Amino acid sequence: MADYNLVDQPGSLTADQLATITFEAGVTADDGIPGYGGLTSTGTYWSYADYSPHTWQTALGTGTPVIYPNGITYSFDPSVSSAIFTPAIENAMAQALAIWSDIANINFIYTSDFTSSTLGLAIVLAPTGGGTQETPLLDQPTSTQGLLQTTAASIQLNLDPSLPYGDPSSYTIQGGYAVDALVHESGHLLGLGHTGQYNAGDASDKTDYATDELNAYDVRTWSIMSYINPTDKSATFYNFFNPSSTNWATEAAEHGTVPYYPSVPYTRMGLDIFAAQRLYGAPTNGVLSGGQTFGFNSNIMYTAIDGSQQLLSMYDFAPGYDNEPVVTLYDYGPDNTLAAPTATCPSARRHRPRSSGMSPSPNRMTTGLWRATGRNCR
Ligand SMILES: [Zn+2]
Repeated sequence: MADYNLVDQPGSLTADQLATITFEAGVTADDGIPGYGGLTSTGTYWSYADYSPHTWQTALGTGTPVIYPNGITYSFDPSVSSAIFTPAIENAMAQALAIWSDIANINFIYTSDFTSSTLGLAIVLAPTGGGTQETPLLDQPTSTQGLLQTTAASIQLNLDPSLPYGDPSSYTIQGGYAVDALVHESGHLLGLGHTGQYNAGDASDKTDYATDELNAYDVRTWSIMSYINPTDKSATFYNFFNPSSTNWATEAAEHGTVPYYPSVPYTRMGLDIFAAQRLYGAPTNGVLSGGQTFGFNSNIMYTAIDGSQQLLSMYDFAPGYDNEPVVTLYDYGPDNTLAAPTATCPSARRHRPRSSGMSPSPNRMTTGLWRATGRNCR
């Protein structure tokens, strides 16, 4: 059986890329348990944040805890009006969780029982003005020294339409920033930190984090856990960003119809996949096990709140979604397709998926472990 745990196959990762993965995951790579890590006390987000690295596992490499045999349960606060927690909002949450469980051995399962004693993740409404965020509610020691096990957490959704977190089901409001925010918070839920020494919740809160950039990989092209946009010219490592063939401005911003708002990722990005697999190992749910079509005519599904299988919007470039999305493709099986129109180009500014693709097996993608595509249709 092919080993599709990326942590076992670092390929051509650079020292800075590996350092970023360690910084984000909070654990170092270690040959003792293949694919998993020993702990480091310095040089990680969690040491910066003065907190311990954490996972939902009982120890590194031990799989899902027994209290969640079918996946970590999540539910929505029933006291929040269904006019606020709409099916679209709830399914946006389900998709933000799925985008992670598709690439690492952690799964989530919806329950309508918000008061269950074994509820893992409570989805609640954030206080007005607060950002969408994730909070661990109960951490306890694991058998791995220095590592905590999360057994309960919450995600607070801020759905104030005047804020960039307004609608995680929309790919047009604020350039889809709320989609990014919810996937980012779900990354925190797994135990991932930011990819640099900053946190908007800190007392030292400031508006420009770009001068705190960790290295050239602390940027949203490489991690959805970064705060730093590749177009930010004040970033310490801005000069390492090569924008040729890619375009990080939203379509509306390019046309000057809205204030500039850069495009943000809708999926975990390349280094995030290594970091999540360092904590959890390779995925087990088989969603990305081969035969996937990414993009137009996508066939990649997720389990919706009602239990039905629905198209995962992040990989669906159909009308109504962003058809110039920033996504990272990951698949550990053969016969996958990135489908984008090639014969005709109905709009000069449309149909340019900006993506990076990755596979643990170089022979499964024609251009190797890492592939960045910028499709200009003009
Ligand atoms: Zn964050």
